[in-house]
Amino acid sequence: MKTNSKILLIIHGGAGTLPKSATTSRSIDAHNKAMKKALLEGYGILQKNGSSLDAVCAAVKILENSALFNAGYGSVLNQKGKVELDAAIMDGSTLKAGSVAGVSRIRNPVLAAKFIMNYSKHVMLIGRHAENFVLRHGMKLINSESLITSHQYEKWQALKIKKQDDNEKFGTVGAVALDRHSNIASATSTGGIMNKAPGRVGDSPIIGAGTYANNETCAVSATGQGEFFIRSVFSYDLAAQMQYKNLSLEVASTHAMKRLASLGGKGGFIALDRSGNMAIQFNTEAMYYGYINENEIIVVNH
Ligand code: ASP
Repeated sequence: MKTNSKILLIIHGGAGTLPKSATTSRSIDAHNKAMKKALLEGYGILQKNGSSLDAVCAAVKILENSALFNAGYGSVLNQKGKVELDAAIMDGSTLKAGSVAGVSRIRNPVLAAKFIMNYSKHVMLIGRHAENFVLRHGMKLINSESLITSHQYEKWQALKIKKQDDNEKFGTVGAVALDRHSNIASATSTGGIMNKAPGRVGDSPIIGAGTYANNETCAVSATGQGEFFIRSVFSYDLAAQMQYKNLSLEVASTHAMKRLASLGGKGGFIALDRSGNMAIQFNTEAMYYGYINENEIIVVNH
């Protein structure tokens, strides 16, 4: 099979307002370290001729396992003090996709999304049905309390006392990749929004909203106020502008962000196409992101 020399992985660790606790040099170092680890893990797969699908899954898994991000372990809590996790994955070469929403006993929701993509005839499973499905296919379930960090518990308690919404939204994770076979893929994972209503599902697990990949256009992973990304069908809107208007990734990205902003939505995204063009945009105060290619590894947290 003909191989493409260009390989590329982009990741994000959420868009929003930087919490004060995240601006100390120790915290910045810890975030950078986790982001670099995720980039190196995913890139290692691409270097060995692995698929973009495996690369995005591996990178997101690392970030889910880090307490620093709002995905997997360390996710935000809902109004009842519970975690409810959402994730999705999409393969741009086949348009196959898998997603989970509202799961609380799965350590790595991105792996569950991949299981659903590979072993189910459905795209999306929710709650305990998703958990039971992955259990039947060999994934271990965990106690949902073990996903809660003391940091998130304290934040939730403080919010309860103040009876207000958290405005330091940050930490959803995602990845997009291009492999040596010129295939692209995308994955996103999140605990959603702090103090969300039980049962609330954001954009991350909705194909075409927070996550999308199509070799003909681009791979996208979004982060921000999920309701607006769902209403603007953000990721598909970006891809459709490339497909039907023949726009470049950069121009289509700017249009999609304008449309999001016109609804009042705040957030950002990472995207790439199969030629290796990148787009990274946000209209929040900050977004954590990073990328790695044959020349450099970059992590940015502002
Ligand atoms: N988009 C995520 C959601 O609405 C949250 C985030 O990206 O911070 O669930």
